[in-house]
Amino acid sequence: MLRKLILAASRSPKVEQVVVGAPVSRDVVRRFVAGSTIDDALTVTRELVDEGLTITIDNLGEDTTNLDQAAGVREEYVALLAALSAAELTPAAEVSVKLSALGQLVDEKAALENVRAICTAATEAGTTVTLDMEDHTTTDSTLEILATLRKDFPTTGAVLQAYLRRTEADCRELAGAGSRVRLCKGAYKEPESVAYQDKLDVDKAYVRCLNILMAGDGYPMLATHDPRLVAISQDRARWFGRSQDRFEFQMLYGIRPHEQRRLAAEGYTTRVYVPYGSDSFGYLMRRLAERPTNLMFFARALASR
Ligand code: FAD
Repeated sequence: MLRKLILAASRSPKVEQVVVGAPVSRDVVRRFVAGSTIDDALTVTRELVDEGLTITIDNLGEDTTNLDQAAGVREEYVALLAALSAAELTPAAEVSVKLSALGQLVDEKAALENVRAICTAATEAGTTVTLDMEDHTTTDSTLEILATLRKDFPTTGAVLQAYLRRTEADCRELAGAGSRVRLCKGAYKEPESVAYQDKLDVDKAYVRCLNILMAGDGYPMLATHDPRLVAISQDRARWFGRSQDRFEFQMLYGIRPHEQRRLAAEGYTTRVYVPYGSDSFGYLMRRLAERPTNLMFFARALASR
């Protein structure tokens, strides 16, 4: 219930004004976000890479409403990739991109051209791009853009959300050789008609999807902080004879950092999703929705002022 309320609030400009304007927000944001500039993202990336982790960087922002803004996002990614390359942080670091930030909701063709420019910059920098998945109204469009991009940039990564009823079928489609698929539970407020609502049903769906990806010929990227799913993933890797270099774990910056380092120390490729930028509201609200105790963190920070 609380999760649904927070996710509904994440679409409210009034709530955004209150949350972003609150003095406490900076402390909460700092826990989950690297900072607001490319330099901030590079500093955090360097620290994490030095600790044996790999990285995917997200320039925060979504639901762009005009193409000038989308072009600005594209140029930010191009500059980020050049900076990563100059700092010799590629290929350890790649980038994650939200198509809605590149104009998907305004003009799909323009969004495709924008993401194509980012893929070109990534190739020049010697690294890859993964297309984040947003709410279910964008799934078909995102997978179509992915299929087009993969003709020229075959290593472009996809994200599939286990909570969607359609996802097992999408996993089968994308389990082939050369495919990179991030499997996550899913972070948006979705109707029952398209998504499992019960946590246990989502977890079971995650395992079914995991089995399909692990049995396939692609490269599964298991994005979860759930200890049970991490253990099941390790078990399935043994079962399907996948060595540690044929899949990876992914976790979000600031969430279970000790577990991230433990997995890396055990030889698992562990990729940290590092967001940066000033438009942190939607991202932050999804993190609050995932874990009500994050609200306590927010409240404690407020009380200590
Ligand atoms: P949960 O059952 O939510 O959590 C398991 C445990 O992890 C919790 O008990 C807690 O200990 C810890 N935990 C989980 N979330 C938090 C949190 N916010 N704060 C503190 N502790 C927490 N979703 C999308 O819809 N599209 C995407 O493109 C996408 N990309 C992602 C990329 C990465 C690398 C990761 C890790 C997640 C991504 N997600 C994405 C979010 C994902 O869908 C889930 O919402 C999120 O990962 C929480 O699910 P969980 O598997 O960690 O399990």
